[in-house]
Amino acid sequence: ASFSDFRLPESLMRGLARCGYREPTQVQAQVIPLAMDGVDLMVSAATGSGKTAAFLLPTMQRFMDVRKAQGGTRALVLVPTRELARQIHDHFMQLGSYTRLTAEVITGGEPRAHQVAKLRRNPEILIATPGRLLELLDSHHAELGDLEILVLDEADRMLDMGFADDVLAIIQHSPPERQSLLFSATLHHRGLAKITDSLLRAPEVLVI
Ligand code: AMP
Repeated sequence: ASFSDFRLPESLMRGLARCGYREPTQVQAQVIPLAMDGVDLMVSAATGSGKTAAFLLPTMQRFMDVRKAQGGTRALVLVPTRELARQIHDHFMQLGSYTRLTAEVITGGEPRAHQVAKLRRNPEILIATPGRLLELLDSHHAELGDLEILVLDEADRMLDMGFADDVLAIIQHSPPERQSLLFSATLHHRGLAKITDSLLRAPEVLVI
């Protein structure tokens, strides 16, 4: 497979070149076309497999294709840790260098006022840890009514860290007609079914 197979906009192809990516990894080759078709996905993929670009590229492509004049968050990426949130944001900044797409990070350990200010900028993409985002949703500082894509990254680690109930509550805050993509190192985690039942609709399952 080649990145040109995906018919990405020129600006994203330049972003890929800036990252130094020449060919899609296995997870990218499998996930990108399906995600672009709009189906729900449940993917077992390890860290280091290239899964970040696998969910960022189809999301960015769609948002560039159909712009919204203004409005709320269009994609939410839920992650277990601050570090992972920051890494994904860095990745987004590189891939999106030649686009006007915007993303913000919302995690614990940062003053609430900063986060409220970030949300007021109406980023198209939010990258967040579950606990802090849920607080902001419950206090009506954050809102997911316009959400089109929900990504759970490292879902097994999120469960291990005790985020199952927060994740379920966040799913309840998001519109049912969204697309959902779940990534996990393993799909055999005990707690996973509880989340996938409310997250995914007729998902394609990819074991990579
Ligand atoms: P990830 O699994 O998304 O954390 O990516 C793991 C590492 O692989 C990161 O350092 C990425 O920058 C790198 N990477 C992702 N996709 C590609 C690609 N298509 N070609 C080369 N390196 C990549």
